[in-house]
Amino acid sequence: MVKLVLVLGDQLSPTLSALREADKSRDVVVMAEVMGEATYVPHHPKKIALIFTAMRKFADRLRADGWRVDYTTLDDPENAGSIVGELLRRASEHNVAEVIATQSGEWRLISALEDLPIPVHQFPDDRFIASHRDFVDWAEGRKALRMEYFYRDMRRKTGLLRDGDQPAGGQWNYDHDNRKPAPDAVDFSGPLRFEPDATTAEVLDLVEDRFGQNFGDLRPFWFATDAQQAQAQLDHWIALGLPKFGDFQDAMLTGQKFLWHSIISMYLNIGLLDPLEVCKQAEAAYRSGTAPLNAVEGFIRQIIGWREYVRGIYFLHGPDYMTRNALGHDRDLPWLYWGGETKMHCMSQAVEQTRTDAYAHHIQRLMVTGNFALLAGVDPHQLHEWYLAVYADAFEWVEAPNTIGMSQFADGGVIASKPYVSSGAYIDRMSDYCGSCHYKVKDKTGDTACPFNVLYWHFLIRHRDRFAGNARMGNMYRTWDRMDDTRKETVLADAETWLARLDAGEVV
Ligand SMILES: Cc1cc2nc3c(=O)[nH]c(=O)nc-3n(C[C@H](O)[C@H](O)[C@H](O)COP(=O)(O)OP(=O)(O)OC[C@H]3O[C@@H](n4cnc5c(N)ncnc54)[C@H](O)[C@@H]3O)c2cc1C
Ligand code: SF4
Repeated sequence: MVKLVLVLGDQLSPTLSALREADKSRDVVVMAEVMGEATYVPHHPKKIALIFTAMRKFADRLRADGWRVDYTTLDDPENAGSIVGELLRRASEHNVAEVIATQSGEWRLISALEDLPIPVHQFPDDRFIASHRDFVDWAEGRKALRMEYFYRDMRRKTGLLRDGDQPAGGQWNYDHDNRKPAPDAVDFSGPLRFEPDATTAEVLDLVEDRFGQNFGDLRPFWFATDAQQAQAQLDHWIALGLPKFGDFQDAMLTGQKFLWHSIISMYLNIGLLDPLEVCKQAEAAYRSGTAPLNAVEGFIRQIIGWREYVRGIYFLHGPDYMTRNALGHDRDLPWLYWGGETKMHCMSQAVEQTRTDAYAHHIQRLMVTGNFALLAGVDPHQLHEWYLAVYADAFEWVEAPNTIGMSQFADGGVIASKPYVSSGAYIDRMSDYCGSCHYKVKDKTGDTACPFNVLYWHFLIRHRDRFAGNARMGNMYRTWDRMDDTRKETVLADAETWLARLDAGEVV
């Protein structure tokens, strides 16, 4: 009997478990562009265009490979509007009694499929290096789930960067060689930009029509939209960007959106690139002497370490993880996250490139927009929905642990051993932003003081009971305690005044 094979928009891999389980001479692949998926948060138009275009091209590839694909475009008058609705419609058309799927990366869809009135077999998504079982086994009995130890297990499992039974170069982690401040000039031109072809152009018109009002610029659209183009971007970056990736991984420069970053997360996350293959190609650059070990190890750690680890956390902690708010933060997400005017140059740089390209690199997300939200006490759920909407690479399994856990400490310390907070000094050290800011990063109080400076102390004092005993934060509290009382009062009063102006909707 015919089975339906569901392929979701982030499952565009020919090796997908659902496809392996199906019989191409008998079964029907179902792919659908649906409003339910396109609107559960107000996604950036570039993200929607990327996914719909890549879906259409993947459907063509499957057809060329001999599959029957029932593809529903967003503007199809028969479109049922949701994945579940489309499956039911196709099931009655083909009189099928079973659906084969690869488990989704979002609890929302996993449970929707479990509730379908026809049987759905959800196979594990084995495009990852660690299975759910691997992660549960690793986590079991550990007091703290620190990424570094998980990462070493993934190095052992994959054999990446190993010299015999030792890590390449003798160490697991070369981060101490990375994190250099921003250089004056960037000698890498950034990601490849692909001219839209006929399929892309058709999707762009559709997205403009339906989602043109969403935050974000649809055009110019330059993303890779099939596996071949994504591989070309990877090759380009390994040859020209990877050598300096480690050195300047945490740097930020005005007007430089991409620096030496790989810009492959969106391609990895929708299945156009395979994570293990990507790492092997990076390792080959180290073995052939074209990229240094600190860069290659740092990059591989992001993929087989952080990427796999956050997925493990997402599935270990279940759907309630997204509602966690350990610090009780409840400020509404300020309008400036949606492009409202701000005098903070670092924030306007990060938000502006998010608007134009649906991209900001890790330190912009963690130490600028994330840091600001944490210091200002923004509701982590609202922030989570923002990150989920505005980045082309955002899918809940990877976005939520990064936001709720790593960036906002809203999970109470599952991921981070201390909150990622800093004053303006960190941003000043790692970027050239402060030099052209309205605020003065050296000013600690007063109207022109960098808001990160006063909010930093405000955060620490608000949460003193929770963090004073944290060994990694003791120095910060000792510095505060050494300040004279008048200065302390001024800092806290300035922070309150600034937050009141933010809440009143003033341009701050
Ligand atoms: C608040 C916040 C939200 C984030 N949301 C997402 C998200 O929705 N989707 C997403 O893919 N990444 C997310 N990240 C992680 C990281 O910022 C992006 O993966 C990275 O910026 C993508 O750009 P790139 O491809 O140029 O990465 P590079 O800097 O070149 O890094 C290489 C690759 O490593 C992986 N990687 C690096 N850091 C992480 C990490 N912390 N978690 C998972 N993978 C990582 C990515 O696949 C990335 O492509 C988030 C980080 C923060 C702090
Ligand atoms: S002075 Fe403060 S607000 Fe301005 S760019 Fe620097 S860190 Fe950001």
